[in-house]
Parts: sequence; C-alpha cells; structure tokens
Amino acid sequence: MATLAHGTALDEVRAKLEAGERLDFDDGLTLMESDDVLALGELADLARRLRGGTDDVYFVQNLYLNQTNVCRVKCKFCAFAATQKQEHAYTQTPDELVADALAQRELTGFTEIHMVNGENPHVGFDFYVETIGKLHDAMPDVHLKCYTASEIHHMTTLSGLSHEAVLRELRGAGLGSLPGGGAEVFADRVRRLIAPGKEHPDIWLETHRIAHALGIPTHCTMLYGHVETYEERIDHLLRLRSLQDETGGFLAFIPLAFHPENTVFERRGWKQSAGTDDLKVIAVSRLMLDNIPHVKAYWIMMGMPLAAVALHFGANDVQGTVVRETIFHAAGATTETEQKVSELVRFVRDAGRVPVQRDTLYSELRRWDG
Ligand code: SF4
Repeated sequence: MATLAHGTALDEVRAKLEAGERLDFDDGLTLMESDDVLALGELADLARRLRGGTDDVYFVQNLYLNQTNVCRVKCKFCAFAATQKQEHAYTQTPDELVADALAQRELTGFTEIHMVNGENPHVGFDFYVETIGKLHDAMPDVHLKCYTASEIHHMTTLSGLSHEAVLRELRGAGLGSLPGGGAEVFADRVRRLIAPGKEHPDIWLETHRIAHALGIPTHCTMLYGHVETYEERIDHLLRLRSLQDETGGFLAFIPLAFHPENTVFERRGWKQSAGTDDLKVIAVSRLMLDNIPHVKAYWIMMGMPLAAVALHFGANDVQGTVVRETIFHAAGATTETEQKVSELVRFVRDAGRVPVQRDTLYSELRRWDG
C-alpha cells in the first residue's frame, strides 16, 4: 500500500507539471522523500522539456582563480580557508594574479575567469577594485565572474560603502557577473551550525537583488549533504525561486555536494553524499526551480561520469573546463581539475546530448551536432 500511495503522490506532481501548474512546498517534500530516483529523473527531464529545454548541453571554457585563502569567517564545512599566520596562507597581489592568469592563457584558451576567495580582513576594498581593473585591462575579452555575495558583503564592511556602491564600482572596473557561492542553506538553524560567522541569508539574497537591479547577472547555489533537512532544502529552493520571480537575474542554479574531508565534519564521521542523493537534488531542483533557465551538473564535485547521468535528471550544463580548482579539492574532491574541451564533448555526446560551448551569458560559441 505504501508503494501505491507513493506512486499516487508522484502522479499528482506529474499531473501538475503537465497542466503547467507550479509545484509547491508540499510537492517539493514529496519529491525529496521519494526513493524512486529513476522516476524523479524522468519527471525532471519531462519538466525541462515541457519548459522548452532541448538536447543542448552547455559548457564554458573557464579559468578558476582564488587570489587569497585568508579568511575571517571559519565556516565549519571549509577546508580551504587559512588564517594569516598559518603556513599555507597566501594572498596574491593584483599584479601577481594577472601574471598568473596571462601565463595560463598561453597554455589554454578561456572566455571566463571564475574567482572566489576567502574574506581577507587584511586587504582594503581598493585591492578588489584594482584586481578587477587589472584583469579587465589585461584581458578585455574575458568575462569576469568574480566574488560571491558574501565577499561583496565583506567589501561593504571593509569600505563602509553600501552593497550597491560596491557593485557599481566593481562593475565600472570590469566585473561581469557574480558566481553563486555563499548561499549554503538559508535556514537560520543550518547557518548557525555550519557557518555562524557568515552574514544573514537575507543579506545574500539582497545582494543578488541589488546586482540584478543594476543589470549584473548572477548564479545561485545550495551546499547540501550536511546537517540540513529535506524541508530546509525545499525552503532554500523556494527562496531562490521567489527572488527569481522578482528579478529574473539568475542565470543558473548549481547544487553543490558537501565534501567533508579535512573539515570538522570528517572527524564527526560525516561521509560524502551518495550519488543517488546528488541525482535526487539535481532532479528536485529542476522540478522546483521552474524560472531559472539552467541547472548545472557540477562535475568537479560529482565526477564526470555521474554528471553525464545527471543530464538525464534535469541538468543541462556541465560548467566548464575549469583548469584549476582548489576549494573542493582541499575538501577531498578527487575529480580531475581540468576537463579538456574534447573530453567534455565526449561525455556529453555519450550521454546522448548535443555539446554546446557557450560564453558566460549563454550565447552559443560552437556546437557539436554532427
Ligand atoms: S567557505 Fe568561504 S567564507 Fe567560509 S571559511 Fe571558507 S573561504 Fe571563508
């Protein structure tokens, strides 16, 4: 009987989807509580197609940079941050960072720089403006997707400026968009447990709201697989959906699986999320976020083989070539740190989809449909 009742619940969600009705909190919970992962994947793929999705799967050629790992916040899930006094602490000057990026460009092409950092209390706001300005001058054709909303908030405390003034100044220097990190899980309870030093989630949302009002597109994330409940996951997705209703400024949603290695959670016995949970989160996100155009299967965290499977669970983007990734690898990710274009193309094709190289704003640069 339990199976029948469960089947009925998913059938109700399917009927709503087919009727074009929006899924609500209870629907989200029904989906999260389902252990029929294949049915969730099929529903998510249906939702994606009903909303105009095709076989196209996007990726970007990008370079990941982390200018400093010095951070004042001490999130409990983080294996990347250091205090200024620790031996592995580092901060690159703007000139060093630019030289590093230019040297990478000699080796491999990229159209985007993705940069996030620790919240370093030993630099001023001018450090960030100078960095963006110098990167932009050195590579005016490269889109600068830099600084999470949490870092933007940090800059307001460094400078005494408003969030809007900080964003305007960075945009004036060449900033193109914001990555989606720092969202974690919005629920106060979770935030207190995993990131007590981080700004209130309302500030994260407000920073994105302001960026969107200024015409700066952004991305959004959810870091899952630690202390959050299913209810808190759905609440998080609905808060993102609601902001997107208001502004339309999110380009993509990226679910991030928590990696416990080298964090306090490893000592408490936490394990990395199972692949089935990763697929479930991708599927439920696609189903609930009916207004965010793209959902990424972030191969850096889940590995390329599972990311390829996720393309049948509602994802339509595999992020990019990345070149260097350090944050999740500090926390034990064992995936490659660079996916060459030919490899991404092969994985996407093997999954039965059409690889499309895009720029940051999803303009098509090249497709492999032959
Ligand atoms: S997650 Fe970010 S803000 Fe938190 S400790 Fe790590 S670097 Fe700092």
